[in-house]
Amino acid sequence: MPTSRAPAPLSATDYLKQVLTARVYDVAIESDLESARTLSRRLHNRIYLKREDQQPVFSFKLRGAYNKMAHLSPEQLKAGVICASAGNHAQGVALAAHKLSSRAVIVMPTTTPQVKVDAVKALGGEVVLAGDSYSDAYGHAVQLQAEQGLTFIHPFDDPLVIAGQGTIGMEILRQHQGPLAAVFLAIGGGGLISGVGAYIKAVRPDVKVIGVQMADSSAMAQSVAQGQRVTLTDVGLFADGTAVKQVGEETFRVATEVVDEFVTVDTDAVCAAIKDVFIDTRSIVEPSGAMAVAAVKQYVATHKTKGESYVAVLSGANMNFDRLRF
Ligand SMILES: *Cc1c(COP(=O)(O)O)cnc(C)c1O
Repeated sequence: MPTSRAPAPLSATDYLKQVLTARVYDVAIESDLESARTLSRRLHNRIYLKREDQQPVFSFKLRGAYNKMAHLSPEQLKAGVICASAGNHAQGVALAAHKLSSRAVIVMPTTTPQVKVDAVKALGGEVVLAGDSYSDAYGHAVQLQAEQGLTFIHPFDDPLVIAGQGTIGMEILRQHQGPLAAVFLAIGGGGLISGVGAYIKAVRPDVKVIGVQMADSSAMAQSVAQGQRVTLTDVGLFADGTAVKQVGEETFRVATEVVDEFVTVDTDAVCAAIKDVFIDTRSIVEPSGAMAVAAVKQYVATHKTKGESYVAVLSGANMNFDRLRF
């Protein structure tokens, strides 16, 4: 797989350094950490929302993509980058490339909705439509990468991508300095939770890191339970930002170390959470973006906690309204 990994696995403290020196703020904002007043009152706990839906491309993905690309050589940037994605990573890479004046080729499956194709084009990305599925698009991207001497920007399985996402953990611990019971994060390939989890475990190991997956798309939870990476044959597509059949090698290794607990949620719980987020923020997040909130509610109900503080990361807001009616 054409990722550029560090020769030896990075420990949690190495990730601490990588996060502290990550370059993300040329494109990303320090998003707000907001109290969810209505939800907090209802759950008898203090719930804070980390507003990654506020980012320029409406998800956190530009942090990792930009950090990766900011570490490329001028020659590599000049040659250009490539990725395969139908979703938020595509927009993150396109925006990061635009900022760094690099060419960005984005391979998307032919089934990608036109709005997503247009969003990438508007950011200056060159869209190549190939294959019916993500894995076909991925295969095509690998081929183009080799033919044209481009650098592959992986959506999650790369230490620099992981460290870029980890800056969210750094911000959370800076923005919230009192007692904090747990941080909840949606998992797809595992880059977000690896970066944030490694940072939190290095700085505040008392804070629990809780991974959230859809019941029909839980590759990371199953992989960690079995002690090896599993490949799912089918994944539910409702939460498209987290529908991943196989997690990364490095993200599997890091998540195994830093995730305290996994929670799985279903479609009804996520729909209810989208509404909860709307009530408190007047913003609509996408299904993957609301998974952490659904998990906080479930966790509080199961553990019957009171007066604790929890953070839920609202990871994205690229809502596909066509899918909402399902
Ligand atoms: C990519 C994504 C995730 C999952 O991140 P991973 O690093 O793949 O685990 C969660 N939510 C949204 C909105 C995303 O775009």
